[in-house]
Amino acid sequence: MTDQDAISPFRYISAREGPPVRKKRDLHDGLWMRCNECEATLYRKAVAENEEVCPECGAHFRVGARQRIAQLADTDTFEEMFAEIVPDDPLGFAWLGQTYRQRIEKEKAKTASADAVITGAAYVKGRRVALGVMDGGFLMGSMGSVVGEKITLLIEHAVEHQLPLIIVCMSGGARMHEGALSLMQMGKTAAALKRLDDAGGVFIAVLADPTTGGTTASFAMLGDVIIAEPGALIGFAGQRVIANTIKTELPEGFQRSEFLLAHGFIDMIVPRGQLRSELARLIDYCCR
Ligand SMILES: [Zn+2]
Repeated sequence: MTDQDAISPFRYISAREGPPVRKKRDLHDGLWMRCNECEATLYRKAVAENEEVCPECGAHFRVGARQRIAQLADTDTFEEMFAEIVPDDPLGFAWLGQTYRQRIEKEKAKTASADAVITGAAYVKGRRVALGVMDGGFLMGSMGSVVGEKITLLIEHAVEHQLPLIIVCMSGGARMHEGALSLMQMGKTAAALKRLDDAGGVFIAVLADPTTGGTTASFAMLGDVIIAEPGALIGFAGQRVIANTIKTELPEGFQRSEFLLAHGFIDMIVPRGQLRSELARLIDYCCR
């Protein structure tokens, strides 16, 4: 017993009321994983077979762009386009001892994508569509010049070939590494969508967790139909920033899909397992 033990009245309380003594094991890399919502221990393969939705509570886990395309498109129908467009480093940006170029290389190795969106054409239940899917794993799905350019080219492809446009959004917002150039993508994508609209085109936006910042403030919220996945975080500014600015407590469920639906910001919430069927139904309805 140390002197400190002898004088501390808290030595028995700390084990019971302090932080957990046992470190939580990280189960995600192995055969098993834990659901952050219901805390169930899940067999990884069962989750994958359930399209990355918790079989116990229905929580929607985040999925990468390639996996999402495999979930949405008819088998082997996705033809990637504009993959040759890769990021540059116009500002010579460096942050936290790392250049933007170094960061890009790391993100590429992590996600097997060249940037935060994959674009192309595919079939969804036999209907040809222009499809863009953001990769939230690539630098937080941030929108820089490449994302803006690829989305714009995809919209123009949809106009030219009279295809319904589907974009699955998953983004932390504009990419600070490209400064104002990232912000310019908001206007560029919005202007392209105006041309799609003028041409009588249809744009279905699918908002996955999370869809925030400049992405929300541009093309994500400009869908003719805006679908969100259950429980997705969708907003512009972060909750802490908003709470501190308006100096009030935010309501329960603020910035989640269900809250946005109740307040008229989105059109519907569609569970992942029904997304393909719902997209096909909407395409038939809108393209009559
Ligand atoms: Zn769960």
